[in-house]
Amino acid sequence: MAFRLQCGPGMQPSDFDRLVARASNPRLIPGIYNYCDRWCERCGFTDRCLQFLEDQDAEPPSADAESLAGRVRESLTRRLGTITEIARREHIDLRTIDAPSFDASEKRARHGQDPLVAWARQYGDLAWRLALARPPKPSETAAMLDFLKREPLEQMCRVIFNLNEFVYAD
Ligand code: SF4
Repeated sequence: MAFRLQCGPGMQPSDFDRLVARASNPRLIPGIYNYCDRWCERCGFTDRCLQFLEDQDAEPPSADAESLAGRVRESLTRRLGTITEIARREHIDLRTIDAPSFDASEKRARHGQDPLVAWARQYGDLAWRLALARPPKPSETAAMLDFLKREPLEQMCRVIFNLNEFVYAD
């Protein structure tokens, strides 16, 4: 199913220029914010993180952003504003672009081939063996993989550390 990209008004050109200038700082670690838990208060890389620096300058969250859905909505709105401004500068009419059709089964198959997914499976298996001194049963592996579709690895480790078999070692 194809659909058109829907973008709102772009960000202010001066804001965009400021963002580009800031992002050009070679001290910043590209994309570091994509691999963290957003616990900025405990992070040693705040001065090298574009997301953190941008958040410092951002307007205080609105009342709507108190909810998770509200925060996601505001974040997406900001990103779409950036994309719209880039498109305006590059003379691209976003209304003429069809987003690629979405095939969930094909995406799942590609996801299963991803080396990160294989490592996640190995990591889960190792965590299980370290905590319980035995490999997971097939049903436990299936449950772990199902859990990992929804939650990050550290949550799975918390689950393992809360299993009766781990907590109440005979
Ligand atoms: S400062 Fe915050 S957003 Fe940036 S890498 Fe650290 S935890 Fe993540």
